[in-house]
Amino acid sequence: MPFNGKPQVLVLGANFGGLTVSRFIRDRCGEAVDITVIDRKPTLIFVPNIPIEVLANNNPAPKLHLNVPPILEKDDTVFIQAEIDEIDLQRREVSYRPNERPGAAGEKIGYDYLVIAMGARLAYDRIQGFGQFGHTVSDGYYGNKLRRYLHEGGYKGGPIAIGSARFHQGSRGKPDWLPDSESACEGPPLELALGLATWLGDRGLGGPEKITLFTPADMIAIDAGEEIMQQFLEMASQMGYGYVHSTQDISRLTQDGIEFANGDSVEAEVKIVFPDWVAHDQLRDLPIADEQGFIVTDLKMRCRDDPNVFAVGDCAALTVPKLGAHGHQQAEIVADQIGADLGKVSGEATERTFWPEIICIGEMGHHRAFYIHSDAWYGGDVSVFKMGYLYYALKLAFKEMYFMTGGKPPQWGVPVTELVAERRLDSSKA
Ligand SMILES: Cc1cc2nc3c(=O)[nH]c(=O)nc-3n(C[C@H](O)[C@H](O)[C@H](O)COP(=O)(O)OP(=O)(O)OC[C@H]3O[C@@H](n4cnc5c(N)ncnc54)[C@H](O)[C@@H]3O)c2cc1C
Repeated sequence: MPFNGKPQVLVLGANFGGLTVSRFIRDRCGEAVDITVIDRKPTLIFVPNIPIEVLANNNPAPKLHLNVPPILEKDDTVFIQAEIDEIDLQRREVSYRPNERPGAAGEKIGYDYLVIAMGARLAYDRIQGFGQFGHTVSDGYYGNKLRRYLHEGGYKGGPIAIGSARFHQGSRGKPDWLPDSESACEGPPLELALGLATWLGDRGLGGPEKITLFTPADMIAIDAGEEIMQQFLEMASQMGYGYVHSTQDISRLTQDGIEFANGDSVEAEVKIVFPDWVAHDQLRDLPIADEQGFIVTDLKMRCRDDPNVFAVGDCAALTVPKLGAHGHQQAEIVADQIGADLGKVSGEATERTFWPEIICIGEMGHHRAFYIHSDAWYGGDVSVFKMGYLYYALKLAFKEMYFMTGGKPPQWGVPVTELVAERRLDSSKA
């Protein structure tokens, strides 16, 4: 509890959402607050670049782990490595168990402001057969497992299937402009399909015709906007990719392929799968959660019934699809809101509300990447789809910038990428 009378800000989670929000709160509020961050692990994993490292035959973890405690220490923010057990909104306290060594006793910590940035559980354990037959790239362990399979003699040259299980989105408190999504995050399947085709070609093992993309929805990555995805799918079909849609969900993985809930199946030696993003048990039963356990907020990321509580990143109901870029935008809004409450932020910044934009840069191999910037799915009019070397360079540069600034880069590539990727090219056309 406070020793000095300053408002206590407690941030739960220290990956993209949690690290960024805690750094921006310090930025906006200076020494007017005490900030404490809790996470079960001291390292951030820079997930978006795992596919690049896997295809380049690098173990992703050593290159993509960022050590968080020294960054927070410099900000005068306290980091506690612990398992978060329970959030008590009425008493304004959180129960946790330090986990550096087994056997630690449970403790409680109070707060004046609570920022929930705990992400979601990637539920591979709900996909029958995944442990035995599945691959993915959402963390260092799985990335390295796929890398070893591809590069160290496991791969027999058979067909590859890439796609998602069904995502279950809540509806309580959902704004009208936010569509229902049947998949949590479909940029990575697109990226892997393009990157793997180049990888196969380079080794004389074939190309796009070996790869089938699948989706539970009527159209893959529809959140990037229908126009962009029609262009993408036309290109993919000309290149020879297989494409299966409306699968509803994955029923099970087998040695020979994937069986879907709609009765279809696809043959595959390599099954690269993205699961349902499921809310954590600690959040599921809170009165501020929707029926799927995601935290319901207003557009300033405040919980309507508990205005000192905020949500940022994948655990927020507004974050659809589950993109770090959304979490970054929300982190800045939350920092401005807490700053405004404490008289440290004023003017336009206090009125800023969350409006999602899909920003996705996916590697295609041979130092090329695709770039999507769109809010068309939400009813906006931004719809940009480009490909080339520049976007590959931007993808690498963003990771470097993220690490160099300790998780406080310009907004997830938006202003910088927009400036370089969109305005520069437009002016060069003129
Ligand atoms: C392959 C792949 C590629 C992607 N590429 C992109 C991209 O190009 N652009 C983009 O915008 N997004 C991308 N994403 C999505 C992006 O990675 C996520 O949106 C982002 O990681 C979410 O950040 P977060 O901080 O909200 O949640 P998380 O990253 O899940 O972090 C939550 C943190 O909370 C901690 N935590 C949770 N529960 C507890 C507990 N009980 N006790 C203690 N600690 C706890 C966890 O340890 C973790 O550190 C990609 C995702 C994947 C899988």
